[in-house]
Amino acid sequence: MIRTFSDLDLRPELLGALTALGYEEPTPIQGEAIPPLLEGRDLLGQAATGTGKTAAFALPLLQRLEKRGRGAGPVALVLAPTRELAMQVCEAIHKYGKDLFGPANGARVLPVYGGQPIGRQLRELERGVDIVVGTPGRVIDHISRGTLRLDGLLTVVLDEADEMLDMGFAEDIDAILEAAPNDRQTVLFSATMPSRVEKVARRHLRNPVRIEIRREQAEQGVAPQVRQSAYVVARPHKPAALGRVLDVEAPEAAIVFCRTREEVDSLSETLNGRGYRAEALHGGLSQEQRDKVMNRLRNRTTELLIATDVAARGLDVEHLTHVVNYNVPAAPEAYVHRIGRVGRAGREGVAITLAEPREHRMLKTIERLTGQKIVMEKVPTVADLRARRLELTRAALRESLLEDDLDGFRAVVETLTDEFDVMEVAAAAVKLAHEASTGGGSADDDDTDIPQVAARAEERAPYDSTRGGSRPSCGPGGAPARKGRVLEGPTAKLFIGLGRAAGVRPQDLVGAITGESSLSGRDIGGIEIAERFALVEVPEGAAEEVISALRATMIKGRKATVRRDGKR
Ligand code: AMP
Repeated sequence: MIRTFSDLDLRPELLGALTALGYEEPTPIQGEAIPPLLEGRDLLGQAATGTGKTAAFALPLLQRLEKRGRGAGPVALVLAPTRELAMQVCEAIHKYGKDLFGPANGARVLPVYGGQPIGRQLRELERGVDIVVGTPGRVIDHISRGTLRLDGLLTVVLDEADEMLDMGFAEDIDAILEAAPNDRQTVLFSATMPSRVEKVARRHLRNPVRIEIRREQAEQGVAPQVRQSAYVVARPHKPAALGRVLDVEAPEAAIVFCRTREEVDSLSETLNGRGYRAEALHGGLSQEQRDKVMNRLRNRTTELLIATDVAARGLDVEHLTHVVNYNVPAAPEAYVHRIGRVGRAGREGVAITLAEPREHRMLKTIERLTGQKIVMEKVPTVADLRARRLELTRAALRESLLEDDLDGFRAVVETLTDEFDVMEVAAAAVKLAHEASTGGGSADDDDTDIPQVAARAEERAPYDSTRGGSRPSCGPGGAPARKGRVLEGPTAKLFIGLGRAAGVRPQDLVGAITGESSLSGRDIGGIEIAERFALVEVPEGAAEEVISALRATMIKGRKATVRRDGKR
């Protein structure tokens, strides 16, 4: 049983990087995937963003990496569906491998994605790289230009395979894997395992180890009286969103779970700076320090604990009302375990999760496995917060009225009523009390609303034209078309001034749109490609964003005219 990173037999440089990042223990997917990957086995893993899957495949790649000279071709290729994910994976691998060959002498990792000028990528490839992380369209471009050599590949990783297939990359993936050496290792991670993903696995993986989230681990003991909700928030807004949620929820005692020691420290600092009394608890503290922190929570000196799972293990606090997951937990078991700490002995408990847009899938997995609904909520707005604060002031005033020890203040009211109406006097008194209790507004950047982020749509059916990896069908006028999904709500048709003659394929447009705008592949409707232009259907609300994003980028290495169809 893998419990610590040292059980994994990793190189000291990698262990050092993990410690420096504040990772305390492997996530379940890492514990299961790393040993067989180190042995060189192929692997088929069901894991969504948030499970720690990137480190699960990246650490074994780095473990086997040797120092190589200038001009060396890559030994590993990671395929990811979008530019956003490719960059994220690239940064993660870079972080883990940054001192691999000595201080500041790390692995050379290169992201290749559409939209970025190809010239820079060519220069880097020429100089020599160890690991390439790319979107399938751009990787194919490089292969056909002869600028990306696959003959030295030891490993190919398909990350978020279901999403890549949904986006129409089935043929590109096949072509890339066909071009890679036969004796390579192949790793496939996917949030879901529909038959089209299984088909790719059957075709390209050899006797893979299978890793999936097992139902029985997750089903034990979710306390039914726990109210579970989640907020989708972009990363930069998370501290402010947490503050808002805490203000509205006003917990008696809460634990906020973070992933790493660094996150615990920086979040406690931010919250304390915003006027909350938060205590940090993580594995980097001595036992004595930890005991002190826990005692302060138990005897109610503190009401907010920011902790890692490891440090909070075994912590049992009777009056705990709220558990907050600052990130989606790496495994459903961790979620169940965390929220089992509230809602004890018939009291109502609350579990709140802050999820980044990409982590929405993991929430769905947790819901499926626990059989319980996690209600998606909107981050409280400035108006909600004001209303809530006024409500608290009102409640405090009511309590004071019920206590009825106001004699000493009556004279003040009486002298003022000569001049003002009683209602006005009361309102002014409420204003002063309110300002005093809120400190004249909180330190939070209070008057700006946190942008609401749409969770990525998950439930809609995959694109018809990509089901089973079939070729895009032919639309009217012989233009390759991609039926796409039927979008809900109003849509806009966009004209793009590049077509078949420029080598544009539906997947290139999907790649450019998802890479440059906030849309995911699932938000894009039908695509028709004619000889000299293409038409793409997108949600009306996103049309302007997509137009400016596409105008600012390159498609197949070229600038294109982009506008609403029908407008000249
Ligand atoms: P991923 O699912 O690969 O996107 O990872 C989700 C997040 O978890 C990333 O921010 C990682 O930095 C973080 N992470 C990965 N492994 C661990 C670990 N063992 N302990 C703490 N955080 C981790």
